[in-house]
Amino acid sequence: MNDPRIETLKASNARGDFAASLIFQYEDRGRLSDKQWHWVVKLAADAAAPAPGPVAVGTFTGVFQLIERAAEHLRFPKIRLGFGGPSGIANDLVLKIAGPRSRYHGDILVTDGGPFGDNKFYGVITEDGEYAPGRDARADADVAAALVAKLTSLSEDPQAVASEYGRLTGNCCFCSRPLEDDRSTQVGYGPVCAKNFGLNWGVKSRNSEVGLGTICDNSDVDPEEQS
Ligand SMILES: [Zn+2]
Repeated sequence: MNDPRIETLKASNARGDFAASLIFQYEDRGRLSDKQWHWVVKLAADAAAPAPGPVAVGTFTGVFQLIERAAEHLRFPKIRLGFGGPSGIANDLVLKIAGPRSRYHGDILVTDGGPFGDNKFYGVITEDGEYAPGRDARADADVAAALVAKLTSLSEDPQAVASEYGRLTGNCCFCSRPLEDDRSTQVGYGPVCAKNFGLNWGVKSRNSEVGLGTICDNSDVDPEEQS
């Protein structure tokens, strides 16, 4: 009869050479060191921990509508924000709807906007606002918490989150180009992106016309879809 700790490890989903080696050594020699027993218990416990389920971050209907409206004008509309750190925008945060080649087709992909294969993958959000944390959110509890906080505030008030980002960074929350006038900075995006995303922008005054401020361009080529 094996030690129950070994049986637990064998029955668990623990995979990999290390777990296999511990089991082999036990069955070969009939004993393990204290340190090895520590690992037997730890590997079994880690494997038994449930995969994180979806996290509710509020309804994302508004965000989906925003991106879908822009998709009438742009090939790859994105929302670019930040999250985490004292500023709340320490890390890049990019949202876009997954294309047909993605296994998340139709859901919002959450990444750092880096090129495919070299980006951070923070997870996916369904229109119901179910956020499934991706590998780079699951790897760090602080990152996950900051992401959930930012996504929740985005679902509650996309405009406010965009404005805050524009004010803090001076960059458009859709195309990331510099915002070059106060009206753009106040809302967090430039007039061209406002038009593309169907949002209000600025108030026309006698000496300025819409379109003379920030020149937005969201026509960049998309890196490949996150799988
Ligand atoms: Zn823009």
